[in-house]
Amino acid sequence: MSNHLFDLVRDHLPSDPAAKAFIETPEGRRYSYADLLERSGAYANALVGLGVKAGDRVAVQVDKSPEVIFLYLGAVRAGAIFLPLNTAYTGPEIEYFLSDAEPALFVCDPAKRDALSAVADKAGVAQLRTLGADGRGTIADAADAAQADFIDVAREPDDLAAILYTSGTTGRSKGAMLSHENLASNTRTLVGVWRFTADDVLIHALPVFHTHGLFVATNIVLATGGTMLFLPRLDAKQILSLMPRATAMMGVPTFYTRLLKEPGLTREATAHMRLFISGSAPLLAETHREWQARTGHAILERYGMTETNMSTSNPYEGARIAGTVGFPLPDVALRVTDPESGTPLPPGEVGMIEVKGPNVFKGYWRMPEKTASEFKADGFFITGDLGKVDAGGYVHIVGRGKDLIISGGFNVYPKEIEAEIDAMPGIVESAVIGVPHADFGEGVTAVVVPGAGAPNEAAILRHLEGRLARFKLPKRVLFAEELPRNTMGKVQKNVLRETHAQLYRG
Ligand code: AMP
Repeated sequence: MSNHLFDLVRDHLPSDPAAKAFIETPEGRRYSYADLLERSGAYANALVGLGVKAGDRVAVQVDKSPEVIFLYLGAVRAGAIFLPLNTAYTGPEIEYFLSDAEPALFVCDPAKRDALSAVADKAGVAQLRTLGADGRGTIADAADAAQADFIDVAREPDDLAAILYTSGTTGRSKGAMLSHENLASNTRTLVGVWRFTADDVLIHALPVFHTHGLFVATNIVLATGGTMLFLPRLDAKQILSLMPRATAMMGVPTFYTRLLKEPGLTREATAHMRLFISGSAPLLAETHREWQARTGHAILERYGMTETNMSTSNPYEGARIAGTVGFPLPDVALRVTDPESGTPLPPGEVGMIEVKGPNVFKGYWRMPEKTASEFKADGFFITGDLGKVDAGGYVHIVGRGKDLIISGGFNVYPKEIEAEIDAMPGIVESAVIGVPHADFGEGVTAVVVPGAGAPNEAAILRHLEGRLARFKLPKRVLFAEELPRNTMGKVQKNVLRETHAQLYRG
């Protein structure tokens, strides 16, 4: 079996590619599988024309549009490494990614071109092109002018297809290196366990710079010859209006809490749907139950991360249990170990979740020591998530080892925000925590110890704006005389979380 990621598409092309829709947009734009072949071929030729060679990185920070998907596929076909960046990242953040990844080409939003060209120059990036939410820009122009025929550059299974940056709790973000085999094998596995076919019509309202929207959702559709209804962002009313012609939806828990606020969410409204999938953050058992009562559908929750793609899933047939993430996927080995000694624990005991399989990434870009420290000698990857396997074999995630906050499906690492706040005059110290929030899952919350002449809440928030991506900004800044600490001097964030658990409730 071939392991070139683009062969997933070739192996499942509809018999009449021009007749079958790959992407449809709310404004009525329609892209067939013939368009996909032509447009991705044109992008591949355009990239080669710009000097992009096999193994080169193509960094992209652009709004969601069908063109981004064709650019992604063009990069993969050209043997390059696709490197999408969160659209919320600011100039200084982008500078770090470009300096670290050293891409041959950086594609940005036309509106940010002037600001980012200086950043790209500083990072030594040779080529800068643009792509807007409307699908237009200088890289689209280059594709327009290029030939559609392209012979895919051969790749080995372990060659990289993508790098996705994950934030670091200590130090800077890390680039997770994902091979053709990592992505292709996980897609094949998920197609099987979730029963996707060419008849599926997937509601796609996730961002495409993250593993969930780019790989889980898009690759599954590509690998089955199905159709995506492609929305720029989460819009509960629009999603509801599409359900009568869709069969499946993938979302973060926020999708489900927002949709539950719509009176139109009923059994009838969801009657054409066969599958609702949730992941990227814990789905409250309460949300699962409410959804089932309103629609008759049991949300299928799964668990994965940038480094591992998907690792577990609740069953398609059989009980989908609220508050669990189901069973390890067929080709994934999962164990729970003692976080101190590293020895495997019996079922029911909480410890560190470790996984191994063709889904697990090749390591962190240019960080061999970090990579080595996250893998065990027998090849298991230490996820950083704490959890247990119950007597029935279901995996439960009980917490995140490193106090990661997940707000609206995005990872927020407290350290980065704390460092910005602590640097302000008049601040003694700070601790940033996630507090339960009905809409975002967790709301980013800063607890600050003020000194003489300390700024107030509004001034701290103003200071952070423009320095940090919007999704990282605290929803509230609270003040405390001191931070709770244990005997080892470590701040007890669990105590802070308990103290402020009701902050966003009521
Ligand atoms: P990311 O790399 O952005 O995909 O984030 C991965 C992290 O999200 C994991 O390490 C988990 O902590 C968390 N995560 C993903 N899916 C779930 C889930 N279904 N339940 C709880 N946590 C999840």
